[in-house]
Amino acid sequence: MPDVLYFNGRFTTTDERVLGVEDRGFQFGDSIYEVFKFLRKRPLFLPDHFRRLEVGLRAIEIPNPWTESSFRATVEELLKRTQFDEGIVYIQVSRGEGERVHFYPENMKPTALMYTRRFKFPDAAKKERGVRMITTEDQRWRQCCLKSVNLLANSMAKKRAQRAGADEALLLDGGFVREGASSSFFAIRNGAIITHPLDEHILPGVVRDHAISLALAEKIRVDERPLREAELFDMNEAFMTSTTQGIMPVTEIDGRIIGDSRRGEITGQLQRLFDAVELTEAGV
Ligand code: PLP
Repeated sequence: MPDVLYFNGRFTTTDERVLGVEDRGFQFGDSIYEVFKFLRKRPLFLPDHFRRLEVGLRAIEIPNPWTESSFRATVEELLKRTQFDEGIVYIQVSRGEGERVHFYPENMKPTALMYTRRFKFPDAAKKERGVRMITTEDQRWRQCCLKSVNLLANSMAKKRAQRAGADEALLLDGGFVREGASSSFFAIRNGAIITHPLDEHILPGVVRDHAISLALAEKIRVDERPLREAELFDMNEAFMTSTTQGIMPVTEIDGRIIGDSRRGEITGQLQRLFDAVELTEAGV
């Protein structure tokens, strides 16, 4: 069953081959993307995702085809046309289509698309069981704060994790822990949370932001600093966050057990709070 697709001002389905071979998103990764979750056909944290898209596009000098209100209107129309109530929306804005040259022309017309997709979000058992990670070298570029479609290094790290029987790759760089290949990472030690500060090494995760706010509201200390690799096996708990996984316990890294190998107390507390925030967003 094809998905509903918005492409440059019109609606179609993912059956239609809309993209030209000389689109710069395809040939140069000259493109910014977003992913958000919807529940009961209600988009979650839409302003956060729009803001990140806007910042990313501005950073690489692609004009944003949407204002916040036209973005919301397009999303609402897309969801109205979608057959299912919950899933994800993938959005991409590339610099556009044109003759293949590295030095891109000024004033190209951006390619803007978004489509819905069914998604199996983690169930209660998975949220309790958590995930396994392996550590691997961070081979990404130096602007990881942009949600660029250049995901080759992330994909390769993720594949290494899969081959090792793990769920996610934890990216290490010069002795520091950065983030997951597609998630933000949090360590907990002596009741305090440690997570990487917002800089060029990590993506400003939407769920990361909510997790920090929830922790602070609960009077849990949050230290935003790079965690040293050597500290990894000296944690009481760990969790990762992402749009599709929410707050997810990490119970094993490189085959070594974290805490007592079950979801930690603080992780469980934040997970419950975050799930409730999502339901409120969805109007449940
Ligand atoms: N870090 C990376 C590299 C990601 O790709 C993602 C999500 O895909 C995240 C972090 C988590 O971001 P968010 O919470 O906005 O989904």
